[in-house]
This record gives sequence, C-alpha cells and structure tokens, in this order.
Amino acid sequence: MAKNEMDPQRWKQEVLKKYPSKIGKKREKSIIVHEGPGDIKQIQANVRTIPGIITQRGCTYAGCKGVVLGPTRDIVNLVHGPIGCSFYAWLTRRNQTLPPTPESPNFMNYAFSTDMQDSNIVFGGEARLKQACREAFELFKPKAIGIFSTCPVGLIGDDVHAVAREMKEELGINVFGFSCEGYKGVSQSAGHHIANNALIKHVIGLNDEHPEGKFRINMLGEYNIGGDAFELERILEKCGITLNASFSGNSTMEQFERAHTADLNVVMCHRSINYVAEMMEKKYGIPWFKVNFIGAEASAKSLRKIAEYFGDQELLDRVECVIAEELLNVQKTIDEIRPRTDGKMAMMFVGGSRAHHYQELFSELGMRTLSAGYEFGHRDDYEGRRVIPTIQVDADSRNIEELTVERDEEKYRARKTEEEIVALGGLGFNDYEGMMVDMAKGTLVIDDLSHYEMEKLIEIYHPDVFCAGIKEKYCVQKMGIPLKQLHSYDYGGPYAGFEGAINFYKDIDMIVNTSVWKLIKAPWEAEPVIEAEYAA
Ligand code: SF4
Repeated sequence: MAKNEMDPQRWKQEVLKKYPSKIGKKREKSIIVHEGPGDIKQIQANVRTIPGIITQRGCTYAGCKGVVLGPTRDIVNLVHGPIGCSFYAWLTRRNQTLPPTPESPNFMNYAFSTDMQDSNIVFGGEARLKQACREAFELFKPKAIGIFSTCPVGLIGDDVHAVAREMKEELGINVFGFSCEGYKGVSQSAGHHIANNALIKHVIGLNDEHPEGKFRINMLGEYNIGGDAFELERILEKCGITLNASFSGNSTMEQFERAHTADLNVVMCHRSINYVAEMMEKKYGIPWFKVNFIGAEASAKSLRKIAEYFGDQELLDRVECVIAEELLNVQKTIDEIRPRTDGKMAMMFVGGSRAHHYQELFSELGMRTLSAGYEFGHRDDYEGRRVIPTIQVDADSRNIEELTVERDEEKYRARKTEEEIVALGGLGFNDYEGMMVDMAKGTLVIDDLSHYEMEKLIEIYHPDVFCAGIKEKYCVQKMGIPLKQLHSYDYGGPYAGFEGAINFYKDIDMIVNTSVWKLIKAPWEAEPVIEAEYAA
C-alpha cells in the first residue's frame, strides 16, 4: 500500500467523526495537530479513559509494584490480592539484575502473593497477609517487605499499613505498605507517585554509609529493561562517575537507603520519578536535572551535563575522551545502516518519557516520527514543566497523597551555592521541556491512544514501524506493520547508552527492512469492510 499523506488535521476530523459526539468532544482535546516547537498547544492528559474505549493503560498497582519497586532485587514485593494481579505483573517488563555473588539475595524471579480467596473477601484478608509476611520472612530472610494493595483490598478495607507496622515490629525488618489499588488513579502514573511517596517516607535516608567517589550521582527513572542499566553503569564507570543509587534498575534496598548522600540526581523517566527528585532536593539539598541516555547524541549530551555540573576539568576531559571513543563505533554503524532506514516513518505510544526519548534514536537513523503520545503522561510531559502551575487538579489527582517534606536539619547539605546554581542554569535544573518541543510541525500528538485511533493511524499512514506494548503488538502485526515493544524491548536490548544505540539501529534495520510484512494483508485490504455511523 502506498503511504497516504493525509493532512493530519483531516485525519483527526475523520477519526472524531466516528465517535458519538460527546466522546468525540472529549477525545478532541487529547489529539493535537502539532504546530511546531514555537507553538505548543495545550493537550488533555492524565484524565480518565472514557468507558468503552480500549486503552493501552495499566493500573495504579502496576505502576507502583511493576515499574518502580519491581526491579529491586532484595526486597520481597508481596502482592495482597487475587493471584491474577501477581501473575500478570511477574517479570513482564524484563527488568534485569546482577547480584554481586550467586549467594546474594535476588527475589526478582518470584511472584509473591497472598492469593486471596472468596472467604478473604467476605471475612477480611489481614490475617492471611500477616501469615504471608511471616512465611516470606521465614523462607527468604529479606531485608525488607513491601506490601502492595490491589483493587479488592481497597474495596473490603484491609489496613495494609497497620499490618506493615505490626510485622515490622514482629519481624525486625523494614515492612511498609502501598495503597496502590488498581482503581486509585487514572493510570499507572498514580502508582508511580504512591511508590515515590513511600520511598521517601520509609526508605531513603536510613543509611549514611556510601561508596567512595569524587562524583557521586543517583540515576532516577532507569529500570534496566533488557540490560539498559548495565550499559549505563559501564559508561559512568569509564567516565569516573560513581553511581550511588539507581531507582530502580539493578538496585538494592541499600542503594535506596543511602540515596540522600549523593551530590546530584539525574532523572531519566520524568513521569515516574520526578516526585522523588523534588522531595530529595527539599529534604536533603540534592539538585536534579533531566537527562536522556536513549540515543547516542543524547547520551553524549547527558554526560557533558553531569561533568559540567561537577565542574572538574579532569572529569570534563575524561567525558570528552569517552564520548569520542564511543561515537566511533556508533558512527560506523549509522553509516552502514542509515541508507536503508533514511526517510522511513515511525510512530510510538508508550510510557511517560519513552515516546519522547526514542524519537532521538529514530532521528539518528534518518527516520521521522509522524505521531507519538504517552499512555500515562501528564501535560508537563508533553508541554514542559512550565505548565505545572496551570494544570487543573481534579478529583482523581486529589486521590493521591501530596507529601509535604521538610528540610532534614541533620542530613540536609547544600551541594551548590545559589550563585553556583544560577551560573549553571543552562543545565536546566528542575526543568523538563517535554516532548512536543522536539517534534516537527504537522505531527500528531495523541494522549491515551485508543485502539480505534491506532487502527486508523495504521490504515491511513502505514508506518514502517509502530512502537508500543504487548497489548497492541499482535493486533498491529496482523495489519502487516511491525511492532517494536518499548516496554519490554521484546527480546532485545540494551538500547540505552552508546552500545545500546548500536543494538537499536541494528534491530530497527532488521524490522523495517524485512519483506515478511508485505505478505500480510490487513483485514481491510483482504476483505470488504462494513462501516456504520451512530445515528444522532
Ligand atoms: S486493576 Fe485491580 S484487579 Fe486488575 S491487576 Fe490492577 S490491581 Fe489487580
């Protein structure tokens, strides 16, 4: 099928026309025809998905347990709920971890659940939860247990926090609960926020011992999908930068506990972890800025930002040497592959930062992103943090506790003077400009893409690759379009850093240039389609 260059404005009108008018009016605000970086329009985001629409989103529990705490190897992440909630959150994001020795604790391969039954729903599940904590402690002797609430737990009113306090006392280890019932927010984003709050309340600041190093940073919002964190650890070590704590790819409880001792927080996934960065700055005096290690150029830029922050000439020189050395291989691969990928089209609907970050990698291959959006982003992830004061706080957002943190007089340490921060202002402290500023005029920015909109994007524009998750994968591929998962990376990765970029170029080259997709006919190509419209 030849690529249809339908005007995006017309595409939008055609799609909206098919919805009942009330739905169309709501969706209209979440579909933006982008006018370019100089004219960033307001997008509707982080609002409830309209009932009946097939969404890509996950639940609040998934964001809390699966995303933020899931990649930490020495905590027992105990799910209080029916077994299905655990089973479908079991290693599905392919977070990797590397314990220092074979004997070191690693519970990531397990799915811990209270496996609630009907009788627990009727008579309460607290006794069962206590029993599960005791059993997990007896069998695994973990350093900590996190208890995650699922929908039924919230509905019947089990008090997971009271159980956590009791078990903490009884077992003598850190036990804390999360009120992250699936329905608590409009998407997994609420779960990220709940996880961030609990880390600040119960974990960060517990241990003042830290690894030695002149330049110590925490990496926030990096989850070691497909080994990304290993590649970043390699690069940082080569540069002489010490990773004090990672939230939370390849992480341990010990790292979380000592996070307050670092001299800088760098934030990869803005949506899932900006709360911890903000709160750590207030409580402990650690400045933060946004980085992006997806894309070779973006990785180089991020390393330079870190070196500039520390302002040490030796570090600045070393970072330049590392970048020069790494870019040699990167460039060689781009030169070989780009003639085959140049001009091809990508679309991506994933995450709260990934749909932004991965545009870097595609543009390094000469590919354009015609449409992108987030599943659980907020307006600031699209339009930049400058809009935060104007974001309307609705009832769903009010449902999530907004922690007020105070300066910890004992542990607070100003890392830079106010003058130094002003002088380094170009690094963009506490800032993120969002995705839209990097997208071209005439592109489509769509929040919480519906299944119907996805089908229409594919039918009309026929992209060379569509990036999303497992829920979309096989529907898209049945339409004859390859789908690259950017939650789990399918079986690939790492894609972060320099070696990760090379892996990505090679995988995308294979994906967009294989002829197998031409053999699959989309339903509307193979058989007649009956279309209907709602009567007014
Ligand atoms: S929505 Fe509720 S029931 Fe479903 S997986 Fe999430 S917590 Fe479990």
